[in-house]
Amino acid sequence: MLKDNHGRTVNYLRLAVTDRCNLRCFYCMPEQGLNWLDRKELMTYPEMLHICSLLVNMGINKIRITGGEPFVRKDILQFLTALTKLKGLQQIAITTNGVLTAPYIPELKKIGIKSVNLSLDTLDRNRFFSITRRDELPDVLKTLDALLYYNIETKLNAVVMDGKNTEDIIPLVELTKSLPLSVRFIEEMPFNGEADHNPGLQWNHLRILNRIKEQYPDIHNIADPPFSTSNNYHIPGHKGSIGIIAAYTRSFCGTCNRIRITPAGELKTCLYDDGVMNIKDLVRKGLDDNELKTVLLKALDNRAKDGREAEQLRKEKNPVHESMATIGG
Ligand code: SAM
Ligand code: SF4
Repeated sequence: MLKDNHGRTVNYLRLAVTDRCNLRCFYCMPEQGLNWLDRKELMTYPEMLHICSLLVNMGINKIRITGGEPFVRKDILQFLTALTKLKGLQQIAITTNGVLTAPYIPELKKIGIKSVNLSLDTLDRNRFFSITRRDELPDVLKTLDALLYYNIETKLNAVVMDGKNTEDIIPLVELTKSLPLSVRFIEEMPFNGEADHNPGLQWNHLRILNRIKEQYPDIHNIADPPFSTSNNYHIPGHKGSIGIIAAYTRSFCGTCNRIRITPAGELKTCLYDDGVMNIKDLVRKGLDDNELKTVLLKALDNRAKDGREAEQLRKEKNPVHESMATIGG
């Protein structure tokens, strides 16, 4: 089992397969998009498979594929299929915006993908456009229908933004009445790719919970799964559940089991660090597996104790402002 220098188990990799995206969520990137990575900077599929296989050998047993939008990368299904062959990898999950995803769902089911996080901040088409700068809500809803139809465990992720979608909190909660979904509300973080756009935290986890309690006073805590980043709740009589993720408040660092690899191959041992080394560059330099293992173990042995410390230790001292799409949210 992989452990870090604070005794925390590390068994979960979030792998961002691209920085590109077909939406322009204003909390994630500017309207004109990002300076997309040059193709040669992007990890190739064989490189990603090599790194994943190494990490699985070392103790990673869950991999989440994220981005950017995973389904804009060509041949993503072949890559996912290849990942399913890694011995020791118990779970592959995906985070997607759902725009292109629906047609893939039967195949995802077939290859054994059991869990998908679908990002959906609003059920209103105009607000969807105002948040994502694209009119794609109908296709996202098709993905939601397909996930439910194929019985794939689904979490809906909604970032809560002042003045943008707080009126959606209750309608999203209401989905849990008849649908077996986990609807999770996320505090907005300053990872929007714009140095001068710092939203500040208007809706923290407590304010979100209080908003739900006004409507549903009998909402109650339920047990959190191991390593959960969300505090989880249930409303009596509802099929689904509710989660609130204190992503900005950072109350879950004590049990953090995850590392991230960005599309350029940067290893992040905390969401708030600015990369501890570039694993793709080391693979390209020709380090063998034992050498790669040694540097990976060293990185895990130097992990910041929490997101506050990681933020302070950043090499770039300016406030965090990378896009979540280049990090792999
Ligand atoms: N494109 C895919 C999607 O949207 O699901 C995967 C990548 S996206 C970066 C992963 C998650 O990060 C999404 O659920 C998105 O809502 C979340 N996210 C992006 N920027 C964020 C921010 N500034 N604060 C909080 N969550 C953010
Ligand atoms: Fe794209 Fe996901 Fe970022 Fe929205 S949150 S712009 S869908 S990467």
